[in-house]
Amino acid sequence: MKDWATLEPDKIRLMNKHFTPGRGGRKIRHVTIHHMAGIGDTDQCWNWWQTRQASAHYAISRTGEIGQLVWDRDTAWGNANLVANQESVIIEHSNSGGANLDWPIADPTLEEGAHLVAAICLFYGLGRPQWGVNVFTHSDFYATSCGYHLAKNRKYNAWYMGRAQWWYDQMSTQPIIGDEFMSALSDDQQREMYTSIKELRNAFLTPVPSRVEGSSFEAPRVDFIDLIDRKVEELHIEYSGKSTPAQLHMDANVAIIEAHTDGEEDDHAV
Ligand SMILES: [Zn+2]
Repeated sequence: MKDWATLEPDKIRLMNKHFTPGRGGRKIRHVTIHHMAGIGDTDQCWNWWQTRQASAHYAISRTGEIGQLVWDRDTAWGNANLVANQESVIIEHSNSGGANLDWPIADPTLEEGAHLVAAICLFYGLGRPQWGVNVFTHSDFYATSCGYHLAKNRKYNAWYMGRAQWWYDQMSTQPIIGDEFMSALSDDQQREMYTSIKELRNAFLTPVPSRVEGSSFEAPRVDFIDLIDRKVEELHIEYSGKSTPAQLHMDANVAIIEAHTDGEEDDHAV
């Protein structure tokens, strides 16, 4: 994890399908932990979910690398339950062996998972991690074996939740940002500020897949905006002499503005 306080993952590879933008008006109320029933990392999950109607917000590899596949503000398809999907941050944990070894999970995966649960609970103000209150597994929402050794009373559950609580206690005794100015803000205000900055950054600077059907193009939204600008210019040239009423109106306004900026240098006049 690059930054626990701001939930910045090691890696970002966003799903281009099999999730729902937004959360249907619902708030994040809990975390749901899954095991993959397979050995995988972010890329492997991305590939699996291309042909499966499934996704999660985060995937943790057997080495503990945390990748984001669906933004927290969107709904991942993990719990096979609409409301539970809309209200949960969903984490997938890689196994370190298959059915013949009874689906073990490696220590770094468990450790990073527990730390991530704590960081999410703190960031979204869900309170100290507590099983059945703000932390659940897949089988709490749907008849499935998933969760398996992570589920209540299974072999990893008590250790995992203990670590999640330990991390939460470590993190919650520190202000989210330590300097004086930020300390003057309440935890809620800091959280709100961070969320806004993070969402703006995500919205503009992180590469997103094109929404054009069949396209594999991916770019930050700022690049998409530049491409639109270029396209408008191309259309302007293509249709010059065939101005629409809106173009005539805008051109007239530009002429008025230019008439009033007499003497100022006009960079656009070539
Ligand atoms: Zn599951």
